[in-house]
Amino acid sequence: MRLHNNMNLTFDKQYVLDFAQRLLTIDSPSSYTKKAAEMLQQEAEALGYSTYFNQKGNLYINVSGENSEETIALTAHFDTLGLMVRSIKSDGKLAVTKIGGPLMPTLDGEYCRIYTRTGNCYKGTVLSTSCAAHVYKDSADLVRDEEHMEVRIDELVNSAENVKKLGIENGDIIAIDPKVEILENGFIKSRFLDDKISVSAIMGVLHALSTANQKPKCNILIMLTSFEEVGHGGCWVPEGVSEVLAVDMGCIGLDLSCSEQDVSICAKDSGGPYDYEMTSKLIALAKELKLSYAVDIYPFYRSDVTAALHAGNDIRGALIGPGVHASHGMERTHYRAVEQTMRLIAAYICTK
Ligand SMILES: [Zn+2]
Repeated sequence: MRLHNNMNLTFDKQYVLDFAQRLLTIDSPSSYTKKAAEMLQQEAEALGYSTYFNQKGNLYINVSGENSEETIALTAHFDTLGLMVRSIKSDGKLAVTKIGGPLMPTLDGEYCRIYTRTGNCYKGTVLSTSCAAHVYKDSADLVRDEEHMEVRIDELVNSAENVKKLGIENGDIIAIDPKVEILENGFIKSRFLDDKISVSAIMGVLHALSTANQKPKCNILIMLTSFEEVGHGGCWVPEGVSEVLAVDMGCIGLDLSCSEQDVSICAKDSGGPYDYEMTSKLIALAKELKLSYAVDIYPFYRSDVTAALHAGNDIRGALIGPGVHASHGMERTHYRAVEQTMRLIAAYICTK
């Protein structure tokens, strides 16, 4: 395959890491994504690209190409997992319901923020209902699930009435501390790398294109979605888009070959196999560029491409992303995986 010469874009590591740090720090469980969306819109417009929102808060970024006859899309999501207040208990604790699929045992002991619909924010801690070792016989063994976990609010409250006086109500958002740490040696840690690290990779590519004053081969529509973790983020694809490349975290574990140094190319997940030609082209590009890459099957996974296909869009789709360890738990990746992902994205959009 002949490669287009502008695939040798240079990526600004400092820009990508600073951007990731800023995005990862903003609380954005599915449905509570406005602040993150506004930050993304400002960033894209500062790089010189026009943007628009759809009704449910997905952000679309237009990147015009050398050939404006064809438009392909890249998608990533900026919503994260979280919790919601299910009810207020008589002792002033909060019963919770999950937003998306966090690994509940990993939330035990995590700090959180409770956002009321009137604009207040309170701090708290997620704990099991048998939280004290000196009191509860089952403090170590109690199953950590929705039913046996609750939020202790950092306010003087010991009854449901006290909590209601704070303005906290059923249905309020509970955001878990994202615990962002970017280490000197390249490791990137945060509970919600999925999928903000891929959004950062896409922004890294846009930054490189914009700095070099380069255009991709054809028009690119960047679709940044706000309800992926609950299944319907990317189900609407604007008119005229022929294919969608999802950039979402790559899986690591069991017999999968991906590591935190690799860009993962997913051949098949719970939604079935991805488009044969697109996937083959991505693998060929990864080989030609000598990327550190893996081709894997993800056992329990669905992407926004699958949501788009199930919604009846006439598109073909594939999935790539940086390898992320301990997904939906305490996630970690490495800058090298992000860099490999940016290089594969750039190659793909510049050989179209
Ligand atoms: Zn994801």
